[in-house]
Amino acid sequence: MEVKVIKPFGYCAGVEHAILMAINIKLKNPNRHVVILGMLVHNHDTLKMLKKEGVDVIYEKGKTYLELIDKVKDDDIVILTAHGHALEVETILKDRHIEYVDTTCPFVKKNHERILKALNEGHEVIYIGKENHPEAIAALSLNKDKVHLLDINKNNKLHLKDESPFVVNQTTLSELEISQIVENLYEIYPKAIITDTVCYSSSERQKAILSIDKDIDIIYVLGSTISNNTLTLKKLAEESHPNSKVIMIENASFINKEDLKGVKKVAITSGASTSKETVLEVKEFLENI
Ligand code: SF4
Repeated sequence: MEVKVIKPFGYCAGVEHAILMAINIKLKNPNRHVVILGMLVHNHDTLKMLKKEGVDVIYEKGKTYLELIDKVKDDDIVILTAHGHALEVETILKDRHIEYVDTTCPFVKKNHERILKALNEGHEVIYIGKENHPEAIAALSLNKDKVHLLDINKNNKLHLKDESPFVVNQTTLSELEISQIVENLYEIYPKAIITDTVCYSSSERQKAILSIDKDIDIIYVLGSTISNNTLTLKKLAEESHPNSKVIMIENASFINKEDLKGVKKVAITSGASTSKETVLEVKEFLENI
């Protein structure tokens, strides 16, 4: 069986930076309780590794960081995640004099800068993203009246006063997901100022999927079902390779050997919060079958 690992793989720069930051803070403060508010990365294996290093996670599915912040104790050191956070989160932490470290990814920060610049110039902002995703919550918190969410799953109608709104998108979406939405927006707002803000790491992985051979029998998508960039890769693989079986797994233990009967060619793609080690373990596991 031929096993091809699609590059790039391993943590993206934003995730790697956030993980190293969390581990370093715990190393420097062995007697303090270090907690991540929300999912630092949407990957269970990575979170288990962090736990081993002594870094705890405060997370409940469906709850925002603001809804979880009461669980933080006054003497904790709080790590704010790579996706960004609502402005109010920092205000509360400051008011309570809690030490915190912001690991927001530079690509997400750049998006915030673009939004703030457009707001300063008097524009309303359309944010294409997913409702309740931390990155979308962070962007909307910049101005609750003038930053409007266009949810890619609901395609909700917007009522704007600005004829030339500024349009940005969540960094982990794909061109495929946003192109139709952008086309529709141009029809309603022909003067809209549209900026593609898919991050470098997401777009490299997406392009790589589109370019792999069409005769692959199985495409394994490595990552967690709660990771948006991994779900996007899965969707792209299904749409671009209709004859391949696309299977999402978190690690080698999720592989069902029955799926591999008669299979000649396998490809492995992975989300930005899946480690290199996990990808290589899956490759080795498949090669040994
Ligand atoms: S996926 Fe992109 S935006 Fe998200 S942490 Fe990685 S580099 Fe940053």
